[in-house]
Amino acid sequence: MAGVFENDRRIIKPNKMTNREKYHFDDFILDNYRRLIKLAKERDFQFILHKDEFVEERKDVIWRHDVEFEPDIALKMAQIENEEGVVASYFFQLHSPFYNVVDPHYREVFHRINNLGHLVGLHFDSAYWGVSDEKQLDEFIVLDKDYLEKNLGIKVDTFSFHNTTPFTQSCLEYRYGGLINVYSSYFKEHYNYCGDSLGYWRFERLEEVLVNDKVQHLQVLTHDANWNEEVLSPRKRFEDVMNKRAKRLIDEQVNGLHEKGMLCPDDEEV
Ligand SMILES: [Zn+2]
Repeated sequence: MAGVFENDRRIIKPNKMTNREKYHFDDFILDNYRRLIKLAKERDFQFILHKDEFVEERKDVIWRHDVEFEPDIALKMAQIENEEGVVASYFFQLHSPFYNVVDPHYREVFHRINNLGHLVGLHFDSAYWGVSDEKQLDEFIVLDKDYLEKNLGIKVDTFSFHNTTPFTQSCLEYRYGGLINVYSSYFKEHYNYCGDSLGYWRFERLEEVLVNDKVQHLQVLTHDANWNEEVLSPRKRFEDVMNKRAKRLIDEQVNGLHEKGMLCPDDEEV
């Protein structure tokens, strides 16, 4: 960011980069998210799904979300994509400490994302089940898939691994438990990759990848809580999401009691 005192000769502008500049905090706002989708369209990327056949001549992107912290933000991104006329893929966890996709609030969010025309799939946590070989992997993916399908009344055909490990990275088959594996060698061989893990671009900046003429096939991975309405550091984006979640739950509980005619007294006299 340009120094406020740039024209003031008494202040020597430090040449040290701020974290905001170094980690491109300004990239991670939802307005810019929309701009990146528009940019992908302008660059003639077709938005496809993992199950779509690979076509060498086509320029395409698989736009993927692993839903980690706050499905409410995933829904905002899904709405932006829908308004821009593109499809994306959303992978939900079943064993997350951060959200429960079968609670009434997030079940609704899940269906709203699906009803916007996006794919919904399983974000599978092999560590939760202690999976250590591919036979177990098949079994536990089927278990989680069945639970997701029965609770939410949908069909799931694709999964992504949550928190990849040396074991999951060695699982390169196209399908496990009947579901397409987004980390299979098939996708690694055919598609470039750009992701926002940890709230910054660890490898390449998405907008640079999108304008690179050499990139014909791309898989993009974004995560809900890495994006915000405001320019914030990755840590503050996460804190903001958690604080808003807490406020929503507190308000719902207190208002719920009041609606039932019950009191939830605080310190002050009413
Ligand atoms: Zn994950």
